[in-house]
Amino acid sequence: MKASPPPPEAPVNPTFDSLGLKPALVEALSALGYEEPTPIQAAALPPLLAGKDLLGIAATGTGKTAAFALPLLQHLTAGKSRPNTTAALVLVPTRELAMQVSEAIHRYGQKLGVTVLPLYGGQVIGQQLRVLKRGVDVVVATPGRALDHLRRGTLQLDDVRTVVLDEADEMLDMGFADDLEAILSGTPENRQTALFSATLPPRIAAIAERHLREPVRVKIAREKVEQGEMPRVRQTAYVVPRAFKIATLGRLLDVESPTAAIIFCRTRTEVDDLTVSLNGRGWRAHALHGGMTQEQRDRVIKQLKSQGTDLLVATDVAARGLDIPRLSHVVNFDVPNAPEAYVHRIGRTGRAGREGVAITLVEPREHRLLRNIERVTGQRIEVSTVPTVADLREKRKEMLRSSLRETLVAGELDPLRSVVEDLASEFDAMDIAAAALKLLQDSQDEGREGKEEEIPTVAPQKDRPERGKFGPPGGAPGARPGPGGRPDRGAKARGGPPSWDITRLWIGAGRRAGMRPADLVGAIAGEAGLDSSRIGAIQIGDSFSLVEVPEPDANRIIAALKETTLRGKKVIVRKDKG
Ligand code: AMP
Repeated sequence: MKASPPPPEAPVNPTFDSLGLKPALVEALSALGYEEPTPIQAAALPPLLAGKDLLGIAATGTGKTAAFALPLLQHLTAGKSRPNTTAALVLVPTRELAMQVSEAIHRYGQKLGVTVLPLYGGQVIGQQLRVLKRGVDVVVATPGRALDHLRRGTLQLDDVRTVVLDEADEMLDMGFADDLEAILSGTPENRQTALFSATLPPRIAAIAERHLREPVRVKIAREKVEQGEMPRVRQTAYVVPRAFKIATLGRLLDVESPTAAIIFCRTRTEVDDLTVSLNGRGWRAHALHGGMTQEQRDRVIKQLKSQGTDLLVATDVAARGLDIPRLSHVVNFDVPNAPEAYVHRIGRTGRAGREGVAITLVEPREHRLLRNIERVTGQRIEVSTVPTVADLREKRKEMLRSSLRETLVAGELDPLRSVVEDLASEFDAMDIAAAALKLLQDSQDEGREGKEEEIPTVAPQKDRPERGKFGPPGGAPGARPGPGGRPDRGAKARGGPPSWDITRLWIGAGRRAGMRPADLVGAIAGEAGLDSSRIGAIQIGDSFSLVEVPEPDANRIIAALKETTLRGKKVIVRKDKG
């Protein structure tokens, strides 16, 4: 890798249009509700569109997928691939990412008629072969599966013009270094290569050195925010799976009962969808985004400034410059794509010396973004557990008690006393009061379905798990053993990274059978659908292997591995008896 030339100047506040993307791509982004490029996109798109190689340091959640997918699509002529070839190859560490990235490329390239195929272990191979035979524009593959196809000759790389290594550090952690080398050496010399990684350890720098040609390095420089510039805001994050985000938001709104709140989403589409969901669940929410006319926006802002409890669901662009003094809460429905956006968002509350509240919903994969934000702001964001149904009931009782107290103090109860008097001959006065409260509560709950749904607690994903090594007895690296070697279940309550109980599986094939950590990770992630970052320490012995997995998933993983082959053979899998 030679010294990087300075990146081409990115326009100030660029739009997707001004970056020179094809109209079909700009339209697709607009249909998805993207209002402006994220910082990594603004920095990476110009050099990639100009055909340069790129080394991008960016974590999940920064918008890096579009940063490499849009140039790749711009350079494609859809539908021109010969049988068993592809024009672009994206390598990713896990099956989940292969599916996610394929889906994203498909969405961005829909108007171009681009064909995308995800390839990962555990898929029925016949289907993959049929699609490959027709020739596909973009293949998104895990290294192991890509290599399988290369060896079979069912995937050929002679026509590849673009190669992307996504989450390269994770691919190395998973033991895919040799596979990557083998795949890259089979691609044409004159290809364009982009490498994205959340971190830049020497091993990544070495890969970049060998396989990138005069790459432009892109890392969003983050200015540390001065302490005095940070508002007084209580900052809390909740880690929740995507499917439970709306329920979590509802629970938090119930428990926090904001005076007025802005809920930030990344895209217009999300703003519209969330507004509809919240209104359907009994809240009064208004949308605010760049796709609305000025008149519509003014009306919404006026309502929020003047009325009682209200929720505004907004994109960053639309809320820019908005000043609403009575905002008690800012909610990040998604972690913002850049720390700067977080600082701007939460700065809307905590005005005029009052303490504001900032709540951030984090998907398990996005915890690294949270750490970035903490680094930039120099402030801690407490990771808390979502209030349970019992917490919610307690909170409602507390609110009822305080409203009752206010009503009792305000008096003017005479017109209703006669109702109580009539019933008092028949019922206990205590029961009458409780029945009145029940009526009140039922009417408040009307239209708010699913309020008492239990919401699962999730561990944020650990920082880079170590692979291919054996950890200390009873503790998986990264799984934070507590005293006595047990995973520390108390960590979650203290806001540290929560963990899970670990079970060690014994697998009846080891080094002599050619077993590698990547085979086990690939099989467990591919066959049992376990996110690879939840796999703990792996030990490869001569004739057996040991792998640590979360206890709740152990039986499912055993069943899945029994159904499949490892290094071409059926193997015995059971819980390790030590
Ligand atoms: P990624 O880091 O590529 O996984 O992207 C994280 C999330 O940000 C995905 O849900 C994308 O759909 C979304 N996203 C990417 N680019 C933008 C953008 N320019 N505006 C709004 N959302 C975006």
